[in-house]
Amino acid sequence: MESADVVIAGGGIIGCALAYQLSKRNVDVLLLERETLGSQSTGKCAGGVRQQFSSEGNVRLQRMSVGMLERFQDEIGHPADFRQIGYLFVLTQPQQVEDFRHNMEMWQRVGLNDARWVDATEASRMVPILNVEDVLGCTFCPSDGIASPADVTSGYAAAARRLGARLKEGVAVTGIDIASGKVQGVRTSAGDIATRLVFNCAGAWAPSIGRMAGLEIPILPYRRHIAVTGTFPAMPRTNPMTVDFQTSLYFHPEGDGVLIGMSDREEPPGFATDVNWEFLEKMFAQAARRAPALSAAGVKTAWAGLYEVTPDHQAILGPMPELEGFWCAAGFSGHGFMQAPAAALLLTQQLLDHTSEIDISSFAFERFARGALVKERNVI
Ligand SMILES: Cc1cc2nc3c(=O)[nH]c(=O)nc-3n(C[C@H](O)[C@H](O)[C@H](O)COP(=O)(O)OP(=O)(O)OC[C@H]3O[C@@H](n4cnc5c(N)ncnc54)[C@H](O)[C@@H]3O)c2cc1C
Repeated sequence: MESADVVIAGGGIIGCALAYQLSKRNVDVLLLERETLGSQSTGKCAGGVRQQFSSEGNVRLQRMSVGMLERFQDEIGHPADFRQIGYLFVLTQPQQVEDFRHNMEMWQRVGLNDARWVDATEASRMVPILNVEDVLGCTFCPSDGIASPADVTSGYAAAARRLGARLKEGVAVTGIDIASGKVQGVRTSAGDIATRLVFNCAGAWAPSIGRMAGLEIPILPYRRHIAVTGTFPAMPRTNPMTVDFQTSLYFHPEGDGVLIGMSDREEPPGFATDVNWEFLEKMFAQAARRAPALSAAGVKTAWAGLYEVTPDHQAILGPMPELEGFWCAAGFSGHGFMQAPAAALLLTQQLLDHTSEIDISSFAFERFARGALVKERNVI
C-alpha cells in the first residue's frame, strides 16, 4: 500500500503552499486533488492581496504574506506577478469611518505603518474614474496589491515537486480510516493510502472531508462573480484595487481592461457556479454609480466561483481536537489566496516545532466550542 507522512486533501493555493513548506522541512508529502491543481476557488479569484483587515490576527498574517509574496521569485524561482498598486477602501457611511479609524489605530500598533487616510480629492486623483460625491473618506495602503493566483499556485506546486512531494491530479479522497481515535489512512478513487496525518485543504468542500472523519466543519459555499471588461484606457495600470465598502463592489486593472467583482449578499449558500447575468446587471449598475466611465466598457468575460465562509469569516487553521492526525487549513472566507503563503508556513511550524513565529491560536477550531468568535468585518 502507498504511504505518506502527510496526505493533503485538495490542491488549491493552500494545499500547494503547504506541500511546499512541508517538503522544505523534509516531510514526505502526498497531495491529492480530485480535479486539477488550482482549478476551483483559487483559479476563480481576483488576486487581491491586502493587509487592511479589522481583526489583528488577519493583519499580522497578511503582513507576513505580503513579505513572502515580495520575496516569492527569489525563494520559489517563479514569478508571483505581485504588483503593489495598493488597496483603496472607499467609505460612504459615518459608521464605516468610525470603524476604520479604530482599524487604523490597530494597524499602526501592529506595524502596518504605510496605511493612511485619503480624502475624496486625493482619492479622485488616485482613481480618476471614481465618483466621490458621497465619499466621506478612504483608507489606502500602498503595499497592498494584486498577484497572479495561477503563478503563485503553480510556483508552489513546482517547488514542492522539486523537493520530492508527490502531487496527484484526478484523485479524490473518498474516506478517512480511523482506529482508536487516530487517523490511520485515507481512501481514494485510486486506492488506499496509509498515513497518520491528513490536512483538510478542500476549500468549500472541506466539510465533506470532515464528514468522512465524523467531524462537522462550519464552512458554507457562496457563489461570487467577476467580470472583466475589454480594453479600457481610462484606467491607468497603476490604479489601486478600489473597494466601495458599502456595496462590496471592487475593481482593479486587469491586462488592458478592468476586473470588476461584487458579492450578492442576498444569495443563499450553494455550490452553483454558473454566471447569474441578472446579478451581473446589478453589479454593472453599481459600477456605473461608483465609476460612471465603466458603463462604456463592454464585458469581455465573466465567471463565478465559491467563497468558503465560516461563521466569523476567519480561516480554520490547525489540528481538530476530536481526532488525532486530522488538521484543517480551510474556510478562508474569500481571502484565502492572500493568506495561504503565511498560513502554510505557520502551520508547518506549528506541526513540526509546536510553536509558530506568529500566534495562530485565534484561528483554531476550538473557538467555535468556546463561543469566542471575533468576526472579521472587512469582508468584501
Ligand atoms: C470570485 C472570487 C474572487 C476572489 N477574490 C479573492 C481575492 O481577491 N483575494 C483572495 O485572497 N481571495 C479571493 N478569493 C477567495 C480565494 O479564491 C479562496 O479563499 C482560496 O482560493 C481558497 O483556496 P483553497 O485552496 O482553500 O480552496 P480551493 O482553491 O477551492 O481548493 C480546494 C481544492 O480541493 C479539491 N477537492 C475538493 N474535494 C476533494 C476531494 N474529496 N478529494 C480531493 N480534492 C478535493 C477541489 O477540487 C479544489 O481544487 C476569491 C474567490 C472568488 C470565488
